Amino acid sequence: MNIDAWDKAETLEVVLKGWGQALAEALYGFSWVKPGDPRPWATRLLDNIQAVRGQEWAGDLAYELRASINECQHATDRAADRITLGECGNLIGDVVCLGTVRSTVGASLGRCGECRAVYDVRERQQWMISEAWHVTGFLPDVVRWLDRAGHAKLNVQKVKNWVHKGRLESCGVAEGRPLYTPAAVMAAYRETPTGRIPTTERGSVAC
Ligand SMILES: [Zn+2]
Repeated sequence: MNIDAWDKAETLEVVLKGWGQALAEALYGFSWVKPGDPRPWATRLLDNIQAVRGQEWAGDLAYELRASINECQHATDRAADRITLGECGNLIGDVVCLGTVRSTVGASLGRCGECRAVYDVRERQQWMISEAWHVTGFLPDVVRWLDRAGHAKLNVQKVKNWVHKGRLESCGVAEGRPLYTPAAVMAAYRETPTGRIPTTERGSVAC
């Protein structure tokens, strides 16, 4: 369990309830929502947004709520879900931006941390694979790269079979495990009936 996220969610609940209470007291002189689920508080605040805007504490509410929601998003945006999409390379005047483009797993757009340029995740991944065609990795990782970059959806077990059959050779060893290149895996895939599609990637099989 993500204790940090839990903690931040509780804070958000307190903030919502606190301001819900404040609005109830301002409008009716009493509270209308019972303790428990914070969602009715959020709904009530939204339903009465005009009244909220009329309160002198509206600015404080907006600030507190924004800060709490940001904390929640940060806590749930776990490192494991973040992906790096290489150096930005955006040309600003004569200067090439050296910022890092980042996104999260499953998102379609990524953003440069420096110049805030927005990129299509899939295009960036294809570009990264084309730039790193001879980088080596463990088989499951290489298979995942190829899938994410849209080159091929391969089953790791099937690819391991190609190794057993001698149709795919490793390019080295790290931590006692064999390493493969995306190029070699794609070349082996091209030898299968489903993978036999003419592409420009053919022929780049060297380690
Ligand atoms: Zn940039």
